[in-house]
Amino acid sequence: MFNAVLIANRGEIAARIARTCKRMGIRTVAVYSEADEGAPHTQIADEAYLIGPAHVTKSYLNAERILEVAREAGVDAIHPGYGLLSENAEFVHAVEAAGITFIGPRAEVMELMGDKARAREFAQNAGVPVVPGSDGVVADEDAAIALAETIGYPVLVKASAGGGGIGMNLATNEKKLRKAIKASVRRAESAFGDPSFYLERYIENPRHIEIQVLADHHGNALHLFERECSVQRRHQKVIEEAPSPLVSRHPGLRERMADAALALVRASEYTNAGTVEFIADEAGNFYFIEMNTRLQVEHPVTEMIAGLDLVEWQLRIAAGEELTLAQSELSIDGHAIECRIYAENPEKMFMPAPGTITTWTPPQGEGVRLDSGVMANWAVTPYYDPLIAKLIVHAPDRPQAIARMKAALGEMNIGGLTTNLQMHLELMDDADYLAGDVHTGWLEKR
Ligand code: ADP
Repeated sequence: MFNAVLIANRGEIAARIARTCKRMGIRTVAVYSEADEGAPHTQIADEAYLIGPAHVTKSYLNAERILEVAREAGVDAIHPGYGLLSENAEFVHAVEAAGITFIGPRAEVMELMGDKARAREFAQNAGVPVVPGSDGVVADEDAAIALAETIGYPVLVKASAGGGGIGMNLATNEKKLRKAIKASVRRAESAFGDPSFYLERYIENPRHIEIQVLADHHGNALHLFERECSVQRRHQKVIEEAPSPLVSRHPGLRERMADAALALVRASEYTNAGTVEFIADEAGNFYFIEMNTRLQVEHPVTEMIAGLDLVEWQLRIAAGEELTLAQSELSIDGHAIECRIYAENPEKMFMPAPGTITTWTPPQGEGVRLDSGVMANWAVTPYYDPLIAKLIVHAPDRPQAIARMKAALGEMNIGGLTTNLQMHLELMDDADYLAGDVHTGWLEKR
């Protein structure tokens, strides 16, 4: 096992990774920007190094400076968390060139999955169902129009380099498709420096369901069941849960989705933790949309129902250990829900609302977990994602998990800041949510 790990991230995820490392007796090295001086994640770690000004390009995305700290601190591995450098294949190469282990998959598979059009083709060839659409990247507008006729409207234009819903545009006819392509190309060019796009049939009101996987360097791969993340705003997840109410309704669906995810893992010789994302319809048809080659924000719900620490397994796999777990030993224990607590203003279209937290009262009780990266008298700045905490509950079944979430949300008190806490409380009383009948457009239409 590693002696020392540098955590190339901030906030709740840096704090969460540091805790597992410490429990395993691994020395932890945190990094921070000028805006994050004294942040909880730097206090939990054994050591902390300033890496630059507030803006991410000058600090948390500054690979050179992070590697300099890694050498100075004498770490043998780097955990990238999520976001930031976590899916940057060039960073993986640089880390490896420095003789340090990157805690994640190989750079090549990261590159493959990072190109969504290529990943889609690869998945199809591996026998994984994909949304009807183009074979890889579409050459130009005219080719797209000809293709859309065969796929059938409505179609989605998606950026190959896409992420976070960027460069995704819906078109219901030819005229709108031309417009949608122009918009996607422009946005993808500016956000990713890559204008390439592909087409997918637009699935009406889908559910978002994803399979968590783990694979080691010895040819062993397993799945840790599914998460449902259908409560979304602007293609961003707001509430996640495991198991999925939809999957639980269809006998055999869990196994079919897991088999598809593992087929992709095996075909791509994937290693470490990853997530294969699908959209599904009410009838239980499911289609691959992308694979995320890192730890996900919503991983705690899987940890709760599977009784495992995913970060511990990421570390063990990266250190070359064999997955000692057998699929047959794993089972779903109860139900877990995660609410993402954002510093955002419900009255201003849920736009980020930075400010200073004056009082901070975390909820307590059986089956309640709070992953946070803030504290009282802490300023939430506009420089970073406004996610301040994740409230996770675990209970024997879904109704009890919802009751626990309501109790925990009610107990939680965040003074001085505008948050979406009240919205979460309302959702826990919503008839559609209670029935498990929500889709990815539901929250915005509500
Ligand atoms: P990104 O990488 O930008 O996050 P994804 O491909 O993962 O994009 O899709 C994000 C979300 O967009 C999904 O969870 C779903 O809500 C919606 N979505 C994606 N593809 C489709 C589709 N073909 N039909 C309907 N909705 C889709």
